[in-house]
Amino acid sequence: VNYYLNNIKTKAHLNAFVEVYEQSALEQAEKVDQKLAEGTAGKLAGMVIGIKDVLCYTDHEVNASSKILENFQSQFTCTAVQKLIDEDAIIIGRLNCDEFGMGSSNENTVHGKVLNAIDEERVPGGSSGGSAVAVQANLCTTSLGTDTGGSVRQPAAFTGLVGIKPTYSRVSRFGLIAYASSFDTIGVFSQNVEDNALVLEVIAGPDDNDSTVSQKSVPSYSEMLDLEKPVKVAYLKETIESDALQPEIKAHTLDVLNQLKEEGHQVEEVDFPLLDYVLPTYYILTTAEASSNLSRFDGVKYGYRTPNAHNLESMYKLTRSEGFGEEVKRRIMLGTFVLSASYYDAYFTKAQKVRRLIKEFTEDLLDKYDYIVMPTTPSTAFKFGEHSDDPVAMYLEDLFTVQASVSGVPAISIPNGTDEKGLPIGLQIIANSFKEGELYAFAKYLI
Ligand code: GLN
Repeated sequence: VNYYLNNIKTKAHLNAFVEVYEQSALEQAEKVDQKLAEGTAGKLAGMVIGIKDVLCYTDHEVNASSKILENFQSQFTCTAVQKLIDEDAIIIGRLNCDEFGMGSSNENTVHGKVLNAIDEERVPGGSSGGSAVAVQANLCTTSLGTDTGGSVRQPAAFTGLVGIKPTYSRVSRFGLIAYASSFDTIGVFSQNVEDNALVLEVIAGPDDNDSTVSQKSVPSYSEMLDLEKPVKVAYLKETIESDALQPEIKAHTLDVLNQLKEEGHQVEEVDFPLLDYVLPTYYILTTAEASSNLSRFDGVKYGYRTPNAHNLESMYKLTRSEGFGEEVKRRIMLGTFVLSASYYDAYFTKAQKVRRLIKEFTEDLLDKYDYIVMPTTPSTAFKFGEHSDDPVAMYLEDLFTVQASVSGVPAISIPNGTDEKGLPIGLQIIANSFKEGELYAFAKYLI
């Protein structure tokens, strides 16, 4: 803990942490030492973990990186965090992110931007940018992020880490501040596959506080790291031939596919005619869900309330106008529009139907193949400000990550070399629902 506390101080300018639980982490460490001496310590004894600023932790502040949750304290602890504590992990602090998980660069945050430790002029990715940089820069061993449309996988790719988005419903969402409830997942960042598998097996599983969580028992992922060979891999023609794809990322991805073939695995190209519809479907449905989820922030129940109101209606209006950032307001407006009576069928209902087609296509493919392999992102980490004035360019960053989110299936990003500037490249592997163990085994084989 002292090692990490020291690193957090010397790397404070990266701005990954918004709060460090110095005192309680040291106290917890002492308790774990005692348990270790007694032989009663849990699975994660001594693992030092940071948590994203959207996960509740009793009596600690949580802001979702938004002014609207200024000074708000959690009333209860998120199930995933509680499960870490129950296995004797040490929670070292709260990590910066894009406001309510909306963004791909960690620039939309009331806490100030997070710097990528490999090149401080570049973004770490988002929305879980703080969670990524905290592990990248050795400020903690692992961290929790959330992934609604790529927010663990994309920052993992930009910082050279392993990052998993589990199957939707594998990890309880109780105590996670909602962005888009039918997409939100809690995921894990780590330097290696083993740590990632161990943390996920701890946080996954049934929970009486979340009626949508899966009742399936959780396998010991950390003991499933041997790959059963040979495997069947599909790659999607439209992803590898996409104009948006940086040539070096394409080359690195093809290298992996060729190497797999040489090693006797079955690797086949498959057409994915729906790729053009994946991003619009994701952004219609997530903005719709966000506009509904975020209606609870009205100045009455949580956090910030405007001091400038002169009646009830102006209190609501001004609180929300002053409390939410630009990107969040844009999404609330988009979501309200697609849910409005005159446009509901044209946008929301249509997008739900397309979601089903994408999900069916993906699941059918994963019945025939063990894995789908593709780049995690179209480009490596970009410079601050590069996409700030162009929301659509920012949304295009998520081109390859949203298919797994729309379909609910698990996906992992692993490091796959660097481009000529030395920036990390990510490789994404997707498997069928609840096949996290198989994902980890394949990831381990490839690293
Ligand atoms: N960049 C995507 C978005 O802004 C993904 C965010 C996420 O997964 N939380 O919606």
